[in-house]
Amino acid sequence: KTWHQTGLTSKILETIKKLNYEKPMTIQAQALPIIMSGRDCIGIAKTGSGKTLAFVLPMLRHIKDQPPVEAGEGPIGLVMAPTRELVQQIHSDIKKFAKALNIRCVPVYGGSGVAQQISELKRGTEIVVCTPGRMIDILCTSGGKITNLRRVTYLVMDEADRMFDMGFEPQITRIVQNIRPDRQTVLFSATFPRQVETLARKVLNKPVEIQV
Ligand code: AMP
Repeated sequence: KTWHQTGLTSKILETIKKLNYEKPMTIQAQALPIIMSGRDCIGIAKTGSGKTLAFVLPMLRHIKDQPPVEAGEGPIGLVMAPTRELVQQIHSDIKKFAKALNIRCVPVYGGSGVAQQISELKRGTEIVVCTPGRMIDILCTSGGKITNLRRVTYLVMDEADRMFDMGFEPQITRIVQNIRPDRQTVLFSATFPRQVETLARKVLNKPVEIQV
């Protein structure tokens, strides 16, 4: 499989070329056609498999089809991940593509840099990458005036098994309940224990399952 068979836009392909990613990794070759077709997807894959771009590239494509986010509006793409480190990692992978596409991405996690996160959210951003607990805090602060979930149509849960282990299920459920049901949803997990399967059944709509 080559990148040109994936249906990505030429701007995205240019960046892939600059990064010297010669061909799609297995998880990308499998997941991209499914996600690009608009289907929900469950990917069982570990870190290092290339899973991040498998959900990031279709998200960028999805966002490019829609009007940009204005100040006061919330993001189109929402990515939830278990830890601050993973949020930063995903954010940095997205940034490699986002600038050329004129897409903004704000990381949301506790600790340092919260004031800047809030001011960037208020200005409007197409993508938010967050830890679930911190995202709830932000959504509840100032009566929902910092950001909101009304425009979210592409939702990702990354490392879902770890989010469970860390006790994030109530926060995840609360966030998902506030996102429009006609969204596209993608879930990645290194393992697929029953609790993750139960969550997936609640949150995803007729998902296609892939495993590498
Ligand atoms: P991940 O599993 O998403 O953490 O990705 C593992 C590493 O592979 C990251 O450092 C990516 O930058 C890199 N990577 C992702 N896709 C490709 C590709 N198609 N070819 C080469 N490297 C890649």
